[in-house]
Amino acid sequence: MKSLIAGGIVISMDPAVGDLPRGDVLIEEGVITQVDERIDAPDAEVIDAGGQIVMPGFVDNHRHSWQSAYRGVGADWTFPEWALAMHGTVKPHYTPEDVHVATLLGRLEALHSGITTMLDWYHVAQGPEHEDAAIAALREAPGRSIFCLGAGWADHRPVDDDIRRVHAALADTTADRSGLLTMAWGLRGVEDTSVDIVAGEVMLADELGLRTSLHIVSDGTTRPVAELHEHGLLRNTTTFVHANGIGDDELQMLADAGSSISISPDVELKMGFGAPMTGRALAAGLRPTLSIDVVPSVAGDMFSAMRAAFAAQRGLDGGLRARDLLAFATIDAARSCGLDARTGSITPGKDADIIIVRTDDPTIFPVTDPVGSLVSAGHPGLVDTVLVAGRVVKRDGALVGVGLPALQSRLIASRDRIAAAAGVRLDGTWRPQPPRT
Ligand SMILES: [Zn+2]
Repeated sequence: MKSLIAGGIVISMDPAVGDLPRGDVLIEEGVITQVDERIDAPDAEVIDAGGQIVMPGFVDNHRHSWQSAYRGVGADWTFPEWALAMHGTVKPHYTPEDVHVATLLGRLEALHSGITTMLDWYHVAQGPEHEDAAIAALREAPGRSIFCLGAGWADHRPVDDDIRRVHAALADTTADRSGLLTMAWGLRGVEDTSVDIVAGEVMLADELGLRTSLHIVSDGTTRPVAELHEHGLLRNTTTFVHANGIGDDELQMLADAGSSISISPDVELKMGFGAPMTGRALAAGLRPTLSIDVVPSVAGDMFSAMRAAFAAQRGLDGGLRARDLLAFATIDAARSCGLDARTGSITPGKDADIIIVRTDDPTIFPVTDPVGSLVSAGHPGLVDTVLVAGRVVKRDGALVGVGLPALQSRLIASRDRIAAAAGVRLDGTWRPQPPRT
């Protein structure tokens, strides 16, 4: 099975391949085998990309897709309001069906916007039926996905048994990372639980060979990274989410450990976490990555995340170039997931996780500097074609083989049922009021 993406503006995100103003990409058995100005492959199925941008699919390394049914509801919320609304109010009413349909449409939405790899940071409920519902959804959506199993919010119960169970269930694809669905562990941090529990979780992750992800934010009075460092718990397989406010010495500890950092710029700015760490991370020698986090509050596409991170950093110090943002959202994020040998750039030998972005749409036309246009004017409506491991999952602007209306009816029913059970209004006036402490 051969296909040839022909005649596109190739932005490879691989320095050895570079950019091609007019280039072809040959795919054989799902793997990129050649990238060149012109490739002669008469037996290949041709995907015409004439004049459009051909680039690696985006990688979102942190999204809580179980919240998809509440998209846009929390646009005004602060972080305490979000926590009270999503974790404190609606989450207890989630059934496995609610988890399934929200995760499935969350993953499909990401694919639709060109995110070929997505880490689903699961913290909706602890229990096999809910977890299996999320896993089933990620298997159904034809993307490259990582099920990142975390403990519940402020939940101190041990999760070792859940981790071992899911690890065994996904053993066929997790061990050698050969399949599209793999697993990671969403660790609790030292602000959530005792350092002994964190240590136990890190040791078990080491034993099972699992990559990990951990949320941290500091207001300057806490030193979460330093505490982990003192206990020997920093790993090059851990992605630290947000990390706003940590000290320069802590950033250096992360860089020395080879850890990754995931920035959700819109969420961090809107919800009061502080300035995104993009520039400070770079100064410490870390490659930042970008993530969506929660769609009740922000848009679910990487174009928005790139733009927010770019604008925020320019506002702070005038730093960054458009190409930096593209790297954060593709190859750097792939590396943070341990998947850079397979995805994140258009490189011969990697899986063909590729998107084709329209250049003739009035919202981006004319494209003179493709990278600049992608980052300054790109949006999901321009994503015409999406391939995952060579398989076309979106064509002519529409997901292939997905019955969206039926799924959307299920999501509406789920949203309304949960809201009724939780006693929340969906008329635009829902503003959770955290108790004063
Ligand atoms: Zn998060």
